[in-house]
Amino acid sequence: MSAPQSGSVPDRPQEQTLAELAPARYECRSCGYIYEPSKGDSKAGIEHGTLFEDLPEDWRCPVCGVGRSQFTNIGSSGAPSGFQENLKYGFGVNTLTPGQKNLLIFGALAVGFLIFMSLYGLS
Ligand SMILES: [Zn+2]
Repeated sequence: MSAPQSGSVPDRPQEQTLAELAPARYECRSCGYIYEPSKGDSKAGIEHGTLFEDLPEDWRCPVCGVGRSQFTNIGSSGAPSGFQENLKYGFGVNTLTPGQKNLLIFGALAVGFLIFMSLYGLS
């Protein structure tokens, strides 16, 4: 039953989750083998792109044969360049030009100076 929806459910945008963009690698604590999600495990019939979390329960280290529980998350290595920069978009400050940032800094300094002077004048 896959009748096309009539507008009520819009197509999902082609966004990738963080996990898909930079899947975590797992290292075997026993032998040092590193499971790369982007490569998968061809010997065990694991297709490339398979996340470690999605491996079958009985998947074992292809080198030394220990179970999944012996693997440690060592983070991702395949983050595309510019990934970190992209994360910062939308925080506003980064849309300011350097000149505008200087204006903010000098403005803050001027305000601080005025407050200091007013306190100085009161005492
Ligand atoms: Zn191993």
